[in-house]
Amino acid sequence: MYLRALKYVSPQFCDEEFNIIKNIGTLNNFPIEFIDLAFEKAKKSFYNVLPLVKFDVMNTLCLAYNLDISMLRKPLLMLGIKLIYKYNHKMCDILVKNSPSCKEASVYAINCACSEFYIGQTNILVTERVAQHQQCVRANDSSNALNVHYGICNQDINWNQPITLINLNDYFSRNMLEAAIIKLIWQNNVNITLGTYTIDNFLLKFIVDQYKLNDLLKSKGLDRR
Ligand SMILES: [Zn+2]
Repeated sequence: MYLRALKYVSPQFCDEEFNIIKNIGTLNNFPIEFIDLAFEKAKKSFYNVLPLVKFDVMNTLCLAYNLDISMLRKPLLMLGIKLIYKYNHKMCDILVKNSPSCKEASVYAINCACSEFYIGQTNILVTERVAQHQQCVRANDSSNALNVHYGICNQDINWNQPITLINLNDYFSRNMLEAAIIKLIWQNNVNITLGTYTIDNFLLKFIVDQYKLNDLLKSKGLDRR
């Protein structure tokens, strides 16, 4: 009530209004200390006006809105910086890209001495991914293609010489390429699925041309045998 009076009552009538408010508080059995405190708070809020700052693009900060960022508005204003918000409507604006650029992400192959091989993709070091496959074999993981092959082949898997076919950071491209290579050399690989994406013949031809897959596989010793 005090704050409303400060905002809307003409100055010459303010004292009268303040007395009315005080009387209303007293009649309703509010302690006098409580009424005075409310008056002090109202004055503090009303007179604590931030300096008027002229804004232009040089002192305006535009960030995507979220609750945490909105808490910065007042501190930034004290520094003469106006915070304005933009609102996100696209999925790519909402998703946070916080993964470091990784030069190790790749599509790779693991050979078996029987001349068949496994095709995989990973965003970690190939040697680390190989170690994970070895762990799956030790644990007899039936969902792991190399373990399935290990169980039916009497030759050794060449764990020590995995082949990096191509480094690709982009998750989508990496999985597309993995699926394309698996399909292209399905007769010679030990994979038990065709990869994350379904590649039809038209798309396979496009990817084979785009990445010169036949030359790539030949240079790595993985051409169709
Ligand atoms: Zn084998």
